[in-house]
Amino acid sequence: MSETATPNTMIGLRMPDVAIWSERVVVALGQNPSLFTGPGTNTYLVGTGPRRILLDPGQGMPAYLDVLERAMAEAGCREIQEIVLTHGHPDHMGGVAAVLERFGEGPVSKLPWPGNDEHYGYAIEPIGHGSRIETEGATLRALHTPGHAPDHLCFWLEEERAVFSGDNVLGVGTTVIPHDSGSLTDYLASLRRLLAETPGRIYPAHGPFIEDGPAKIHEYLAHREEREQQILGSLGREPTTVPAIVARVYTDVPSVLHKAAELSVSSHLLKLEDEGRTVRGDPHDDPRKATWRLP
Ligand SMILES: [Zn+2]
Repeated sequence: MSETATPNTMIGLRMPDVAIWSERVVVALGQNPSLFTGPGTNTYLVGTGPRRILLDPGQGMPAYLDVLERAMAEAGCREIQEIVLTHGHPDHMGGVAAVLERFGEGPVSKLPWPGNDEHYGYAIEPIGHGSRIETEGATLRALHTPGHAPDHLCFWLEEERAVFSGDNVLGVGTTVIPHDSGSLTDYLASLRRLLAETPGRIYPAHGPFIEDGPAKIHEYLAHREEREQQILGSLGREPTTVPAIVARVYTDVPSVLHKAAELSVSSHLLKLEDEGRTVRGDPHDDPRKATWRLP
Protein backbone atom coordinates (compact mmCIF):
# COMPACT_ATOMS: atom_id res chain seq x y z
CA MET A 1 0.00 0.00 0.00
CA SER A 2 1.43 3.35 -0.91
CA GLU A 3 0.23 6.92 -1.04
CA THR A 4 1.44 9.52 -3.46
CA ALA A 5 1.94 13.24 -3.48
CA THR A 6 1.43 13.37 -7.23
CA PRO A 7 -1.50 11.16 -8.20
CA ASN A 8 -1.43 12.24 -11.83
CA THR A 9 2.02 10.77 -12.15
CA MET A 10 0.80 7.71 -10.32
CA ILE A 11 -2.24 7.16 -12.51
CA GLY A 12 -0.48 8.24 -15.69
CA LEU A 13 2.57 6.09 -15.08
CA ARG A 14 2.52 3.14 -17.44
CA MET A 15 4.70 0.12 -17.01
CA PRO A 16 4.98 -2.88 -19.31
CA ASP A 17 3.36 -6.09 -18.04
CA VAL A 18 6.67 -7.91 -18.34
CA ALA A 19 10.15 -6.40 -18.26
CA ILE A 20 13.64 -7.83 -17.97
CA TRP A 21 15.46 -5.50 -15.59
CA SER A 22 18.70 -7.46 -15.28
CA GLU A 23 20.08 -10.87 -16.16
CA ARG A 24 18.55 -12.24 -12.95
CA VAL A 25 15.58 -9.92 -12.32
CA VAL A 26 12.37 -10.10 -14.36
CA VAL A 27 9.29 -8.15 -13.31
CA ALA A 28 5.69 -9.20 -13.98
CA LEU A 29 3.12 -6.53 -13.17
CA GLY A 30 0.41 -7.60 -10.71
CA GLN A 31 -2.50 -6.10 -12.74
CA ASN A 32 -3.84 -4.20 -9.72
CA PRO A 33 -3.38 -0.51 -10.54
CA SER A 34 -4.85 1.98 -8.06
CA LEU A 35 -4.16 5.19 -6.22
CA PHE A 36 -2.41 3.10 -3.59
CA THR A 37 -0.48 0.63 -5.73
CA GLY A 38 0.45 2.88 -8.66
CA PRO A 39 0.71 0.82 -11.84
CA GLY A 40 0.24 -2.31 -9.68
CA THR A 41 2.44 -4.55 -7.56
CA ASN A 42 5.78 -5.55 -9.06
CA THR A 43 6.21 -9.30 -8.77
CA TYR A 44 9.73 -10.54 -9.40
CA LEU A 45 11.17 -13.69 -10.89
CA VAL A 46 14.67 -13.90 -9.43
CA GLY A 47 17.52 -16.10 -10.67
CA THR A 48 18.98 -17.32 -13.94
CA GLY A 49 17.98 -20.98 -14.07
CA PRO A 50 14.89 -22.95 -15.08
CA ARG A 51 13.56 -22.78 -11.48
CA ARG A 52 13.36 -19.33 -9.92
CA ILE A 53 12.18 -17.52 -6.83
CA LEU A 54 8.92 -15.58 -7.13
CA LEU A 55 9.17 -12.56 -4.86
CA ASP A 56 5.66 -11.25 -3.99
CA PRO A 57 2.94 -12.77 -6.16
CA GLY A 58 0.74 -9.65 -6.06
CA GLN A 59 -2.89 -9.25 -5.14
CA GLY A 60 -4.48 -12.23 -6.89
CA MET A 61 -5.93 -10.55 -9.96
CA PRO A 62 -7.02 -13.23 -12.47
CA ALA A 63 -5.27 -11.45 -15.38
CA TYR A 64 -1.95 -11.69 -13.54
CA LEU A 65 -1.56 -15.45 -13.99
CA ASP A 66 -1.19 -15.14 -17.78
CA VAL A 67 1.25 -12.26 -17.30
CA LEU A 68 3.35 -14.37 -14.96
CA GLU A 69 3.29 -17.25 -17.43
CA ARG A 70 4.50 -14.92 -20.17
CA ALA A 71 7.22 -13.54 -17.90
CA MET A 72 8.39 -17.07 -17.14
CA ALA A 73 8.50 -17.92 -20.85
CA GLU A 74 10.44 -14.75 -21.70
CA ALA A 75 12.86 -15.39 -18.85
CA GLY A 76 13.41 -19.05 -19.68
CA CYS A 77 11.93 -20.11 -16.35
CA ARG A 78 9.91 -23.32 -16.36
CA GLU A 79 9.05 -23.66 -12.70
CA ILE A 80 8.63 -21.59 -9.56
CA GLN A 81 11.11 -22.85 -6.99
CA GLU A 82 9.40 -21.07 -4.10
CA ILE A 83 7.45 -17.96 -3.18
CA VAL A 84 9.04 -15.38 -0.90
CA LEU A 85 7.07 -12.45 0.54
CA THR A 86 8.23 -8.99 1.60
CA HIS A 87 5.24 -8.55 3.93
CA GLY A 88 1.66 -9.50 4.65
CA HIS A 89 -0.34 -6.75 2.94
CA PRO A 90 -2.99 -8.03 0.51
CA ASP A 91 -1.43 -6.50 -2.60
CA HIS A 92 1.67 -8.63 -1.95
CA MET A 93 0.33 -11.74 -0.27
CA GLY A 94 -3.16 -12.00 -1.79
CA GLY A 95 -1.94 -13.72 -4.95
CA VAL A 96 -0.22 -16.71 -3.34
CA ALA A 97 -3.10 -19.19 -3.49
CA ALA A 98 -3.85 -18.55 -7.18
CA VAL A 99 -0.18 -18.92 -8.14
CA LEU A 100 0.17 -22.19 -6.23
CA GLU A 101 -2.98 -23.51 -7.87
CA ARG A 102 -1.83 -22.62 -11.38
CA PHE A 103 1.89 -23.38 -11.15
CA GLY A 104 2.01 -26.10 -8.50
CA GLU A 105 2.58 -26.32 -4.76
CA GLY A 106 5.83 -25.07 -3.30
CA PRO A 107 7.22 -23.41 -0.19
CA VAL A 108 5.97 -19.94 0.79
CA SER A 109 8.18 -18.05 3.19
CA LYS A 110 7.94 -14.75 5.06
CA LEU A 111 8.53 -13.24 8.46
CA PRO A 112 5.48 -14.32 10.44
CA TRP A 113 2.89 -11.69 11.41
CA PRO A 114 0.54 -13.39 13.89
CA GLY A 115 -3.02 -12.17 13.52
CA ASN A 116 -2.50 -11.29 9.86
CA ASP A 117 -1.09 -14.28 8.03
CA GLU A 118 -3.78 -16.74 9.17
CA HIS A 119 -6.40 -14.95 7.05
CA TYR A 120 -4.74 -16.20 3.87
CA GLY A 121 -5.16 -19.88 4.74
CA TYR A 122 -1.88 -21.44 3.65
CA ALA A 123 1.22 -22.60 5.48
CA ILE A 124 4.10 -20.17 5.93
CA GLU A 125 7.71 -21.19 6.35
CA PRO A 126 9.14 -18.64 8.76
CA ILE A 127 12.19 -16.63 7.74
CA GLY A 128 13.71 -13.60 9.45
CA HIS A 129 16.55 -11.12 9.51
CA GLY A 130 19.64 -12.73 7.98
CA SER A 131 17.81 -15.62 6.27
CA ARG A 132 19.34 -16.59 2.95
CA ILE A 133 17.38 -17.89 0.00
CA GLU A 134 19.36 -19.30 -2.89
CA THR A 135 18.54 -20.17 -6.45
CA GLU A 136 20.65 -20.59 -9.56
CA GLY A 137 22.34 -17.25 -10.24
CA ALA A 138 20.93 -15.36 -7.26
CA THR A 139 21.20 -15.19 -3.49
CA LEU A 140 18.74 -13.20 -1.38
CA ARG A 141 19.50 -12.13 2.18
CA ALA A 142 16.60 -10.89 4.31
CA LEU A 143 16.77 -7.57 6.15
CA HIS A 144 14.10 -6.90 8.75
CA THR A 145 12.83 -3.43 7.95
CA PRO A 146 9.69 -2.77 10.03
CA GLY A 147 7.73 0.47 9.98
CA HIS A 148 5.41 0.20 6.98
CA ALA A 149 4.40 -3.21 8.35
CA PRO A 150 5.80 -5.08 11.37
CA ASP A 151 6.77 -8.12 9.28
CA HIS A 152 8.45 -6.20 6.47
CA LEU A 153 11.57 -7.74 4.95
CA CYS A 154 13.74 -6.20 2.28
CA PHE A 155 16.01 -8.55 0.36
CA TRP A 156 19.61 -7.88 -0.49
CA LEU A 157 20.48 -9.36 -3.89
CA GLU A 158 24.11 -10.28 -3.35
CA GLU A 159 25.16 -10.72 -6.98
CA GLU A 160 24.12 -7.15 -7.85
CA ARG A 161 24.53 -5.32 -4.53
CA ALA A 162 20.91 -4.37 -5.15
CA VAL A 163 17.92 -4.35 -2.81
CA PHE A 164 14.36 -5.52 -3.25
CA SER A 165 12.78 -2.83 -1.11
CA GLY A 166 9.15 -4.02 -0.91
CA ASP A 167 7.04 -1.06 0.16
CA ASN A 168 9.84 0.66 2.08
CA VAL A 169 11.18 2.55 -0.93
CA LEU A 170 8.98 2.96 -3.99
CA GLY A 171 9.56 3.83 -7.61
CA VAL A 172 6.44 5.99 -7.45
CA GLY A 173 4.59 7.67 -4.57
CA THR A 174 5.56 7.58 -0.91
CA THR A 175 5.13 4.83 1.65
CA VAL A 176 2.10 4.89 3.94
CA ILE A 177 2.83 4.29 7.61
CA PRO A 178 -0.40 2.96 9.17
CA HIS A 179 -0.74 4.36 12.70
CA ASP A 180 -2.07 1.07 14.09
CA SER A 181 0.29 -1.56 12.62
CA GLY A 182 3.12 0.69 11.46
CA SER A 183 5.65 2.92 13.17
CA LEU A 184 7.34 5.96 11.71
CA THR A 185 10.17 5.65 14.23
CA ASP A 186 10.81 2.08 13.07
CA TYR A 187 10.40 3.07 9.43
CA LEU A 188 13.06 5.78 9.60
CA ALA A 189 15.42 3.36 11.37
CA SER A 190 14.75 0.84 8.59
CA LEU A 191 15.60 3.40 5.91
CA ARG A 192 18.87 4.17 7.69
CA ARG A 193 19.60 0.44 7.96
CA LEU A 194 19.09 0.10 4.19
CA LEU A 195 21.32 3.10 3.59
CA ALA A 196 24.05 1.54 5.73
CA GLU A 197 24.12 -1.40 3.33
CA THR A 198 25.00 1.08 0.55
CA PRO A 199 22.90 -0.58 -2.10
CA GLY A 200 23.26 0.20 -5.75
CA ARG A 201 19.99 -0.31 -7.51
CA ILE A 202 16.65 -0.61 -5.73
CA TYR A 203 13.90 -2.87 -7.04
CA PRO A 204 10.70 -1.56 -5.42
CA ALA A 205 7.29 -3.22 -5.05
CA HIS A 206 5.62 -0.42 -7.00
CA GLY A 207 6.90 1.66 -9.90
CA PRO A 208 10.12 1.55 -11.92
CA PHE A 209 13.47 0.49 -10.46
CA ILE A 210 15.70 3.15 -8.91
CA GLU A 211 19.24 3.26 -10.25
CA ASP A 212 20.75 5.33 -7.42
CA GLY A 213 19.42 3.70 -4.25
CA PRO A 214 21.21 5.83 -1.66
CA ALA A 215 20.13 9.09 -3.35
CA LYS A 216 16.49 7.97 -3.20
CA ILE A 217 16.76 6.95 0.46
CA HIS A 218 18.30 10.34 1.33
CA GLU A 219 15.40 11.96 -0.53
CA TYR A 220 12.89 9.92 1.52
CA LEU A 221 14.57 10.86 4.82
CA ALA A 222 14.58 14.54 3.81
CA HIS A 223 10.90 14.36 2.80
CA ARG A 224 9.90 12.93 6.19
CA GLU A 225 11.97 15.53 7.99
CA GLU A 226 10.27 18.28 6.00
CA ARG A 227 6.79 16.89 6.74
CA GLU A 228 7.65 16.67 10.41
CA GLN A 229 8.70 20.32 10.48
CA GLN A 230 5.50 21.30 8.63
CA ILE A 231 3.35 19.35 11.10
CA LEU A 232 5.14 20.89 14.08
CA GLY A 233 4.70 24.29 12.43
CA SER A 234 0.95 23.72 12.12
CA LEU A 235 0.59 22.97 15.85
CA GLY A 236 0.14 25.51 18.59
CA ARG A 237 -0.89 25.54 22.25
CA GLU A 238 -4.55 25.27 21.23
CA PRO A 239 -5.66 21.69 20.41
CA THR A 240 -6.15 20.98 16.71
CA THR A 241 -7.46 17.98 14.77
CA VAL A 242 -5.68 15.73 12.28
CA PRO A 243 -7.91 16.77 9.33
CA ALA A 244 -7.12 20.41 10.15
CA ILE A 245 -3.38 19.65 10.10
CA VAL A 246 -3.74 17.81 6.79
CA ALA A 247 -5.61 20.76 5.26
CA ARG A 248 -2.82 23.09 6.37
CA VAL A 249 0.19 20.92 5.47
CA TYR A 250 -0.91 18.92 2.41
CA THR A 251 -1.81 21.88 0.23
CA ASP A 252 0.13 20.26 -2.63
CA VAL A 253 -1.98 17.09 -2.48
CA PRO A 254 -5.52 16.75 -3.94
CA SER A 255 -8.27 16.27 -1.37
CA VAL A 256 -8.99 12.75 -2.65
CA LEU A 257 -5.75 11.72 -0.91
CA HIS A 258 -6.35 13.58 2.34
CA LYS A 259 -7.71 10.49 4.12
CA ALA A 260 -4.45 8.69 3.32
CA ALA A 261 -2.52 11.76 4.43
CA GLU A 262 -4.31 11.55 7.80
CA LEU A 263 -2.57 8.19 8.33
CA SER A 264 0.82 9.74 7.68
CA VAL A 265 0.12 12.75 9.90
CA SER A 266 -1.08 10.46 12.71
CA SER A 267 2.14 8.46 12.43
CA HIS A 268 4.21 11.63 12.63
CA LEU A 269 2.22 12.82 15.66
CA LEU A 270 2.76 9.48 17.43
CA LYS A 271 6.50 9.67 16.77
CA LEU A 272 6.58 13.25 18.07
CA GLU A 273 4.53 12.19 21.10
CA ASP A 274 7.10 9.47 21.87
CA GLU A 275 9.75 12.17 21.74
CA GLY A 276 7.76 14.45 24.06
CA ARG A 277 7.20 17.04 21.34
CA THR A 278 3.40 16.79 21.02
CA VAL A 279 0.53 16.16 23.41
CA ARG A 280 -2.62 14.21 22.62
CA GLY A 281 -5.96 15.44 24.05
CA ASP A 282 -6.35 12.10 25.77
CA PRO A 283 -3.59 9.49 25.43
CA HIS A 284 -6.27 6.81 24.90
CA ASP A 285 -7.88 8.61 21.96
CA ASP A 286 -7.53 7.15 18.48
CA PRO A 287 -4.61 9.19 17.11
CA ARG A 288 -6.59 10.11 13.99
CA LYS A 289 -9.58 11.37 15.98
CA ALA A 290 -7.64 12.94 18.83
CA THR A 291 -6.78 16.61 19.19
CA TRP A 292 -3.11 17.53 19.29
CA ARG A 293 -1.10 20.48 20.56
CA LEU A 294 2.41 21.49 21.46
CA PRO A 295 3.52 20.64 25.03
ZN1 LIG B 1 2.42 -2.78 1.98
